[in-house]
Amino acid sequence: MSATDTLLLRNADRRDDLSEKEFTISPGLRALVLTCADHRVDPAYVLGVDLGEAVILRNPGGRVTPSFIQNLAILAVVAAVEGIEPGFELIVMHHTDCGLSRLNGPEHAGLLTYYFGVGEEEISGKHVTDPYMSVQTDLEVLRSNPLIPRTLIASGVVYDIDSGRANIVCRAAPLGEVA
Ligand SMILES: [Zn+2]
Repeated sequence: MSATDTLLLRNADRRDDLSEKEFTISPGLRALVLTCADHRVDPAYVLGVDLGEAVILRNPGGRVTPSFIQNLAILAVVAAVEGIEPGFELIVMHHTDCGLSRLNGPEHAGLLTYYFGVGEEEISGKHVTDPYMSVQTDLEVLRSNPLIPRTLIASGVVYDIDSGRANIVCRAAPLGEVA
């Protein structure tokens, strides 16, 4: 049986339960989580995010890339169109043993410059091998981008795969405030 078939069967089991739930387009916790695509760091499991509670955005490393900023901008417009009050919380969660750390060699520098939209000389500053540094770097990228609303409340977390513990690295603060 294919993975698709397996998952559609699981959906059939929960369809009735899902159809009874009522949600608005605004997530219950007024939160977004940016984290890695890694299957071991699913926020539904490691943070206990329930259905309808938070917008989850995932990419390799859970990084603040030009593509992520584009996603955020589109979501901000959707929220404005829907008349949703600003002041959402963004949790950036990186993790130990991240696959992105395997791209640290010079042979992958070109790929990372493309991914982060920076010059090759800036790649070392992205700290792909150190989640505690990279999460701080990404919050700084958000703070320094004038296109990101200052009302966005951002925090930085590192999830340790071995211990199962999510550690706060940067406490939640509006981007307009110096953290
Ligand atoms: Zn990862």
